Amino acid sequence: MIECPVCGAEVSLPDGTVAGEILECTDCGTELEVTALEPPTLAEAPETEEDWGE
Ligand SMILES: [Zn+2]
Repeated sequence: MIECPVCGAEVSLPDGTVAGEILECTDCGTELEVTALEPPTLAEAPETEEDWGE
């Protein structure tokens, strides 16, 4: 279990999680990026901007 960096809730990593994977905190709904596995580290994923080009 890892703590959500945003709300502090416990987030579990599914088996087979790889670095760079995006998880969603079940408590606050924030998208969290797995930045490292040893030790498991989560960071708030950057908001996906709608990039439609111009
Ligand atoms: Zn959270």
